[in-house]
Amino acid sequence: MALSLPTYAKDILIQNGYVMTMDPALGDVEAGDVHVRDGKIVAIGRDLKAEGAERIDAQGAIVLPGFVDTHSHLYVTTLRGQFRNAEGQFFPVSSALAAKMTPDDVHTAMYTGALELLDGGITSTADFFDNVLTPAHGEAGLRALKDSGIRATMYYGGPDKTTKQRINLDQLRALATQQNDATATSRVRIGLAWRLPRDRNSTANWAMRQQEFDTAKALGLPVQVHVSGEPEPMFDALIKRNYLSPQMTVVHATDARPDQLAALEAAGAGLALTPISEHRVGYGLTQLKHFAGVSRQGLGIDGNSLAGSADMFASMRLAALTWSGADRDEKAPSPRELLALATRRAAEAIGMGDQVGSLSGGKRADLQIVTLQSLNLSGFGGGDPAALLVYSARPSNVDTVIVDGRVLKRDGKLVEVDTADVLRGAEASARALLTR
Ligand SMILES: [Zn+2]
Repeated sequence: MALSLPTYAKDILIQNGYVMTMDPALGDVEAGDVHVRDGKIVAIGRDLKAEGAERIDAQGAIVLPGFVDTHSHLYVTTLRGQFRNAEGQFFPVSSALAAKMTPDDVHTAMYTGALELLDGGITSTADFFDNVLTPAHGEAGLRALKDSGIRATMYYGGPDKTTKQRINLDQLRALATQQNDATATSRVRIGLAWRLPRDRNSTANWAMRQQEFDTAKALGLPVQVHVSGEPEPMFDALIKRNYLSPQMTVVHATDARPDQLAALEAAGAGLALTPISEHRVGYGLTQLKHFAGVSRQGLGIDGNSLAGSADMFASMRLAALTWSGADRDEKAPSPRELLALATRRAAEAIGMGDQVGSLSGGKRADLQIVTLQSLNLSGFGGGDPAALLVYSARPSNVDTVIVDGRVLKRDGKLVEVDTADVLRGAEASARALLTR
């Protein structure tokens, strides 16, 4: 597999697009330009001059920030189609197959999965890598994210759902020291994929989890934690033991009580909402209205093969439809707000709001260009395209993707990626896994 990243363009000028900055201070710029230099957005406006810059014509297209996925498990990519509801539930199937993965399988799955995200306009992911079976698996996951070109926080975790085995804190420390530089410009950073003890009465189990938490805290790492399974006592434990902080993102809180959400808000913690997977595994309805009081929240995919595919458009759509359907109210969900939950607010939820999530001068240049030249987007006569993106668009409409100033997708195709080769590799890994 050829894994060279496209060359880094020093200067890019995107011209004449309908620019949705998602920055409340800047709003939309019709027939707007975006100037990118050295991986950063340096200017947004009309008729910008940029001598010698590589030009991308966005006439008739929408330019918006890349989507930010607040929670994923990319290693499940090669388990696609194996979750068949009554014939194969997600947790037993994914646990059994994940335990058989070699480091190469992990690299294949996470690399392929990251490319799928990029292909659909998702430029950042928060990957909850809870399948670090050995240090070689940890290295393979990190390499896959780096090789793909995506921006990521790799939340380092132990084998899936293990409650007896401690996370490899030596490797966590080593990777964090290597990746999380003080200037925070590293494209792939390390966090902790943390789990609460399954047996909450076990003092030994709590002591082990506490040690993991303390290590992450000492290193200043972001932490993600699931509250699914037994949401009420898990969320209560986070509150009672003072684990909630601005470094923490809580995942799958569909059933959270209002007082629990108030505690999360008071602590400044974030919330990851993954409507498709939460509905699929039966966690209940992801009702955005329920979380209205939480400042830091955003949408996520939660494993492309569990969600079916990495489709942020579909995630926004499901969240909107769940709201209007449950409330019998067409007016309630704002398409703009849904876009914010997939961009600016998602970045804020996982602590990356100062770097990405909006097209603002000084932020890293992570963006996508959506072309309207497709039958599923035909007949748009103008005006605010937010509803068009939420209700009609899909990943194949994403024409161009730029991460950190690097053009990773152009003219509807991933740049310098041999897709046929990637697909062959993923299928071979998936087939081998099933025979093991
Ligand atoms: Zn998860």
